[in-house]
Amino acid sequence: MSTAVEPLKVVRGSGSELVLDDGRTLIDGISSWWVNLHGHAHPEIAAAIAEQARTLEHVIFAGYTHEPAQQLAERLTALLPERLNKVFFSDNGSTAVEVALKMAWQFWRNQENPARNRILAFENAYHGDTFGAMAAGARSIFFEAFEPLMFDVTRLPYPETWIGDSDVEIKEAQALAALRTLLEDAPEAYAALILEPLVQGAGGMKMARASFVREACDLAREFGVLVIFDEVMTGFGRTGELFAFRKLGFEPDFLCLSKGLTGGFLPMSLTITGERVQEAFRSADLTHTFWHGHSYTANPLGCAAAVASLTLTERVLPMFPSIEERHLAELALGGFKAEKVRVCGTILAMDVPVGTTSGYTNPVGPALRAAFLEDGILLRPLGNTVYVMAPYCTTDAQYDTIYKSLRRRLAAL
Ligand SMILES: *Cc1c(COP(=O)(O)O)cnc(C)c1O
Repeated sequence: MSTAVEPLKVVRGSGSELVLDDGRTLIDGISSWWVNLHGHAHPEIAAAIAEQARTLEHVIFAGYTHEPAQQLAERLTALLPERLNKVFFSDNGSTAVEVALKMAWQFWRNQENPARNRILAFENAYHGDTFGAMAAGARSIFFEAFEPLMFDVTRLPYPETWIGDSDVEIKEAQALAALRTLLEDAPEAYAALILEPLVQGAGGMKMARASFVREACDLAREFGVLVIFDEVMTGFGRTGELFAFRKLGFEPDFLCLSKGLTGGFLPMSLTITGERVQEAFRSADLTHTFWHGHSYTANPLGCAAAVASLTLTERVLPMFPSIEERHLAELALGGFKAEKVRVCGTILAMDVPVGTTSGYTNPVGPALRAAFLEDGILLRPLGNTVYVMAPYCTTDAQYDTIYKSLRRRLAAL
């Protein structure tokens, strides 16, 4: 509290631009913490919410259902494989993860297999701020105060990579060997593996190769472990495909979605699974019930926003490869004073060389944040990692402004 800077007051937003109360405009280069897909105050999503608000704003989602929830579930599952056709609603990314972890854990318990009770998760992962999500995430300064309250998970090495990384094969082989050893040592111990496929977001936009992620997931499945994909950030096109799992050729047992789900308008999330998991809960024994529900479960306004956003996403999906090409073409021009430069779909990331003090608390982050602000850009480095994850409507001219500022500000450090 004693070091926090005064927040800036935002009065309006349109496309990728935000307007402050002092008249300044900013390009939103991080989609307002990765939630905005199609630009601020998008008229089609705003209209869908307004219409829904005049029809049915909310209703209890226990014993009752409604058109927007059904429509959202139908529209989404039509885009997903058979394995992912059961949709559970909650409110945010953290609860989507809680739901997946609880369901996976109870799946084994309901089948008289309570020994499968450990969670596998990657080093440096971030899965949210509630207790289960914190436990699955890497231990960091964010969670330090709560350490004694968190359950223990088994941690796997994460072979992060970047353009021109010559050691990637060695790192991947070591990570896979470590996973195999764990599984062979205790083949019946693990309930689930949870991961952020292709890109670890809050941990610093750390990217892994699709072939590695697929092999790790195949291996876990070979040993009967349920696989949870936390696509809270990677979902809805960030990696260049509608969902990251499509780039892997691996269908998870659980898919967690939030952030971009409503196009950045309303808090809502989904945990999507399939019949095999649902079957384990079909029982007259009440202890087999999944007792989990939130007051605003499947809020109709959120569902209406999500349906409208999905329509827009399908419309712009064909242009996603051009965003990746744009990032790569810009990198080819050079001039970025950074290391570990990496691109995945619409995400561009690079690290400021800071020697041994890398990490979230590195002061280079706030310094760069202030510099970008002077250039009229909202970018928020994760420690010494600078990244761009703009709304899909960002124009060429806006990208040029961002790239130019990045080059200049990195060079000036
Ligand atoms: C942001 C994020 C979460 C948590 O979502 P909230 O809506 O902030 O609770 C979980 N997992 C990943 C991968 C995220 O990026």
